[in-house]
Amino acid sequence: MTIQAGARLLEGAPIADEIRAGVARDVAAFTAENGHAPALAVVVCGRSAPSMVYLERILKACAGVGIDGRLVDVAGDDGAAQAAGLASALRTLSADDTVAGIIVQMPLPKGIGIRTVIDAIDPAKDIDGIHPLNAGLLRLGFEGFVPATAHAALEMLQRSGAPSEGAEAVVVGRSPVVGMPVAFLLAKSGATTTVCHSKTRDLAAHTRRADIVVVAAGQPGLVTGAMLKPGAVVIDVGINVVDGQIVGDVDLASAREVAGAITPVPGGVGPLTNALLLAHLVRAAQRQAAERSASAVLGDA
Ligand code: NAD
Repeated sequence: MTIQAGARLLEGAPIADEIRAGVARDVAAFTAENGHAPALAVVVCGRSAPSMVYLERILKACAGVGIDGRLVDVAGDDGAAQAAGLASALRTLSADDTVAGIIVQMPLPKGIGIRTVIDAIDPAKDIDGIHPLNAGLLRLGFEGFVPATAHAALEMLQRSGAPSEGAEAVVVGRSPVVGMPVAFLLAKSGATTTVCHSKTRDLAAHTRRADIVVVAAGQPGLVTGAMLKPGAVVIDVGINVVDGQIVGDVDLASAREVAGAITPVPGGVGPLTNALLLAHLVRAAQRQAAERSASAVLGDA
């Protein structure tokens, strides 16, 4: 038996840099052609949530590539009034031709349901794929906006060079924003895909036969080396804070001994998610501009 020297680390930063460089070029071309930079609205319901750090990172990344990142704060402590304010802000942004994309801070405050967002956001501007139209397009195998994290997990897998056609893939987690979109993308790419979740009886029995394991459970160290098939490609989507440190859902030390390739946390899927969100924004801006000029030609603009 050969002893593994340790899995190849799949670093997200170099891929993210490459994607951002392409986005910066596309943004410059869009801005020259349209007379304004494409704008991304980042909608928050108060600025205290922990996810604010993530959103501030997105705004900084926007500035780095020439995207006009706008923070829209729907503050308030009355749930009903805040929900109405959120719906109204989303409708205004959806109707604003200078805004190409909209993302909304999650989780929403208590008392505001996801329905408030999906009833008011234009699916053409839903660049993080939360609207049922985009979820449905993904489900049916058409092109739409896929949640950036799920897209990043698949991009990482493709860049690892591991073939997905015919491969056994196991996704750990079935959330609508990560696990399920990853599973649909894997199945579309030709992998035989199993979705495991908190009610799965014997998780290790599934992961041990998988060539590809994508973990998005929010449980630090859930998947260990003993649960992996030698040579497997492991994509760790988890982001957890343990003793002040960011760790994934995979126990990196033991998994590295068995896997063929693995994404580290931090530094794997995370940086790519951010870069792909910017890429989605540019795609939305280009499509909307093309539709506007087609309407103008037809005389109904
Ligand atoms: P979620 O809580 O909505 O879903 C977790 C899923 O994991 C559920 O389907 C649940 O059934 C499953 N699960 C939980 N415990 C399990 C167990 N012991 N065995 C098997 N399955 C189990 O979480 P989410 O929003 O999908 O996020 C998942 C993880 O990904 C979190 O750590 C989150 O922080 C991270 N995340 C990362 C990014 C990124 O850019 N890298 C983006 C979004 C979320």
